[in-house]
Amino acid sequence: MNEMWELIDKSKNILVLTHESPDGDAIGSTLAMYHVLNNMNKKVDMVVPEIPETFLFMNGIDKVLTESNKEYDLAIVLDCSSKARIGENNHEFSRCKESIIIDHHISNDNYGTINHVEGEVAACCQVLYYLFKNWNVEITREIGEALAVGMLTDTSGFRNNDTDKNTFIMAAELADKGINIHQIYYLVLSKKSMAQYLLMKMTLDRLEITCDGRIAFSYISEEDMANVGAKKGDHEGLVDIGRNVGGVEVSVFMREDNGMYRISLRSNGNIDVNKIAQKFGGGGHKMAAGIKITGDFKETKESVINGIKEEFSK
Ligand code: 5GP
Ligand code: MN
Repeated sequence: MNEMWELIDKSKNILVLTHESPDGDAIGSTLAMYHVLNNMNKKVDMVVPEIPETFLFMNGIDKVLTESNKEYDLAIVLDCSSKARIGENNHEFSRCKESIIIDHHISNDNYGTINHVEGEVAACCQVLYYLFKNWNVEITREIGEALAVGMLTDTSGFRNNDTDKNTFIMAAELADKGINIHQIYYLVLSKKSMAQYLLMKMTLDRLEITCDGRIAFSYISEEDMANVGAKKGDHEGLVDIGRNVGGVEVSVFMREDNGMYRISLRSNGNIDVNKIAQKFGGGGHKMAAGIKITGDFKETKESVINGIKEEFSK
């Protein structure tokens, strides 16, 4: 941990990156790290190609760049399990000689100079919170709010099974610092636009329950997104509709994205969806994982469902 701090301390120009299709934990981690480095008077850029509408309220979001040609001493990559997952900002990463990876994905392949991965922790923002405390960093309002966004979104509002005592302690300590947890909860998890409601309706209308009630499946196409006027990230959480049906063990949500499919997998219990995702070149966590796949809709759907059935029969 000191090694990490020393590398940050000696670097002047720092680039902060996260995974493609960023979620609340990716954005929250990026902004929290940005504020910390900024408060240390570092020259710091955040490069994220797209920001979901939900997170536009966050302090510092206007400073996020979509690309950069500058030179940096150090790249810090957050919540991102592999170099490929950085996506289109991969070349920015490759140009940096030194890198620090901070993550909570057990599947992380340790692609940095220094790799700090805590696979049992619910959110990358929670990993950062411990590091910041260890480094005696002052948790200002904007840092606390950014950390709360990642903690809340990656635990789906304290509902995932990786939510533990330490998550609640972090929430309590942030609340003690004046962070309005319930307001952030409303903004990132409860509040929905009309387009999001229409996507929820479509997802529910198309919900298929198969394999004796153990698998739920639904999908959204790019045309559906356009028809309801959906913004980037508006599909977030739709996979939970199937997951919340009693008896369902694995929920599959398939989304068309730029000529390929992004598949979200959620588990309710014993099935490790990270293992299933890895069969298709994806990854994630035991309870939440994802796959990026190119192919025909029906064939892709069937092969993923068969991949889950194989896991059931083990
Ligand atoms: P989501 O379904 O919300 O997109 O992602 C769930 C989890 O799986 C997240 O932790 C995310 O980082 C991971 N994940 C999603 N898609 C991919 C993918 O294509 N590759 C890998 N390695 N992980 C993914
Ligand atoms: Mn995360």
